[in-house]
Amino acid sequence: MTFRRIAVEEAFVTPEIMAQWYVVLAGRNVEPGFAKMGESILAQTPANKPLDDRLLDIGAARIAHMDQVGIDMQIISLTSPGVQVFEAALATRLAAESNDALAEAVRAHPTRFAGLAAIAPQDPAAAAKEIERAVQKLGLKGLIVNSHTMGEYLDAAKFRPIFEAAQALDMPIYLHPREPAASWVTPYLDYALWFAGWGFAAETGLHAMRLIMSGLFDRFPKLKIVLGHMGEGIPFWLQRIDNRYLLEVKIGACEKLPKLPSEYFLENFVITTSGVTSMPALRLSLDVLGVDRILFAADFPYEDDAEAVRFMDGASVTEEERRKIYETNACRVFKLA
Ligand code: CA
Repeated sequence: MTFRRIAVEEAFVTPEIMAQWYVVLAGRNVEPGFAKMGESILAQTPANKPLDDRLLDIGAARIAHMDQVGIDMQIISLTSPGVQVFEAALATRLAAESNDALAEAVRAHPTRFAGLAAIAPQDPAAAAKEIERAVQKLGLKGLIVNSHTMGEYLDAAKFRPIFEAAQALDMPIYLHPREPAASWVTPYLDYALWFAGWGFAAETGLHAMRLIMSGLFDRFPKLKIVLGHMGEGIPFWLQRIDNRYLLEVKIGACEKLPKLPSEYFLENFVITTSGVTSMPALRLSLDVLGVDRILFAADFPYEDDAEAVRFMDGASVTEEERRKIYETNACRVFKLA
């Protein structure tokens, strides 16, 4: 069976956004989680230089690497935390500029790259306009949001213009990790728990659960949210989430929703394999969600994408399932040719 290997959570950054991160990190009142990023993965050190070089390239070097690894197409997005640590006007401008740069790379390599648009939730009305521009002028295929924005989560009513635009224009939203918000990050600051091994999934899983429990998907039933890292833990907990939700309703701890949490998850979410090369984790996701809700992602350049390809090529699934995870599902969700 032939298929394209399409990787859907692949990162880049622009030089100006990187430069502005260092301005924020050098300032006062830096969010504690972001400060940890500044001390480690974002530190300007020789060890991080190869990573930065890869993030900054959306041209020939990236394609040469993809050829080497066997990735046919990358769906590229602005890396975490993107513009979500800047004040609104700067964030809005830099999101648009990074979308222009990404769209230009996609135009130059239309069979190898597709892109997700960055938005600045700090200004929801401007973000809604940028979503429209991203689809109609730039041909981008979805949106990327790196979890909380200065401690705020997207279930807040002020962010509705973003979901109105995303639903109207049929743009899936990749809800990508970042460090836990300042309001609850303190116990994560030790032992690197704020980082990708645990804190990122805790933060992003929380964000996804806020969207579900707030009734967002009754207001916007056609929204599609993409979660990386095999669903940020939610598929594992889904039965228990329903079970305890029913009790929480009974004891008056939360509002009764028209559907069970798991029903919203199955209808409004898909997940990707980014950063996970565990057959038990993939098996559980297949059993809980079904093969049509799982997309391949490598998380370049943070993860070893050659290893991701080795894993997916050798995974104990049928050839039809492999084709869906590598190609068919990505084409459907992101409307690729
Ligand atoms: Ca990532």
